[in-house]
Amino acid sequence: MRWREIEVSTGSREQLVEITSAVASEIGNSGVENGTCHVYVPHTTAGVTIHENADPDVARDILTGLARLVPAEGDYRHAEGNSDAHLKASIMGFSAMVPIIDGLPALGTWQGVYLCEFDGPRRRRVLIGVLGS
Ligand code: ZN
Repeated sequence: MRWREIEVSTGSREQLVEITSAVASEIGNSGVENGTCHVYVPHTTAGVTIHENADPDVARDILTGLARLVPAEGDYRHAEGNSDAHLKASIMGFSAMVPIIDGLPALGTWQGVYLCEFDGPRRRRVLIGVLGS
């Protein structure tokens, strides 16, 4: 497994940042024709997901929906005051897998890979691993 790390700067407290092109570049640079690409975010208040990249309102709706599910203020004990960010990151998850077929990411027509920021703005690390032959 070949792992590379990229850095993503986020611009607001909550934001979905598309990283599909970085994922595609790592797959292309790896020379792998058939395999898997794993995307991992080593943070506790940011996650990763795959969702629609055609209509930017979908990203907005995801953030709005998560805010409904996880209020900013609540019965939280974590002293940092960012418990909602930890919960939202856990809901979205910290890794995603993209199949590699014929040297390309096998994403659906409307799919993109997104870093999910919940406690920004800050710089985030994303690990992209490619496995295959
Ligand atoms: Zn915290």
